[in-house]
Amino acid sequence: MDRCPYCNTTFNEIRQTGFVGCARCYSEIEQLRKAVKSMYPNKTHKGKRVKNGNL
Ligand SMILES: [Zn+2]
Repeated sequence: MDRCPYCNTTFNEIRQTGFVGCARCYSEIEQLRKAVKSMYPNKTHKGKRVKNGNL
């Protein structure tokens, strides 16, 4: 889902304005969720990141 069904805000709109339409945007818009994760890595900090690790 790239658009919030509750407030009809799209990920592009949020990216342009910097504001989410409602609190549910975070859980409904997958791209936003990922973007927030990368913007605030401290929230889900689990130690060192291995960039080129072999899984
Ligand atoms: Zn919303």
